[in-house]
Amino acid sequence: MSTRQPPPLRFPQVAVSCPWCHATPGEPCAVRRRGPRRDMTHQARRNAWVISVAVCPACQVTPGTPCADTNRRPLPEPHPERDAEAVRTQPSARTPRVHALGEQLDLTDEQET
Ligand SMILES: [Zn+2]
Ligand SMILES: [Zn+2]
Repeated sequence: MSTRQPPPLRFPQVAVSCPWCHATPGEPCAVRRRGPRRDMTHQARRNAWVISVAVCPACQVTPGTPCADTNRRPLPEPHPERDAEAVRTQPSARTPRVHALGEQLDLTDEQET
């Protein structure tokens, strides 16, 4: 019955700063032209959080170390198994899967090459 409230910041990845938009821990990601979005975060932030908290079941790297391929070259994104591991091991991460992976921001409007 009241005015529409923005959804709470439920994403575990807001615990870390966003490497993409430099949002500080606890702040929502900033999106140019559309203003802060409390219901989404950048994929880069999700990745940073996953890397910071979880051991990767796929490539066995420790928390804080980016995933690597079989030639030990760093991968731009963590393995999907690592995201699942982060969710499994972090009680704060038990958000609906659609929020966890399906509603990340489209970065195309921030990449002006
Ligand atoms: Zn961001
Ligand atoms: Zn990995």
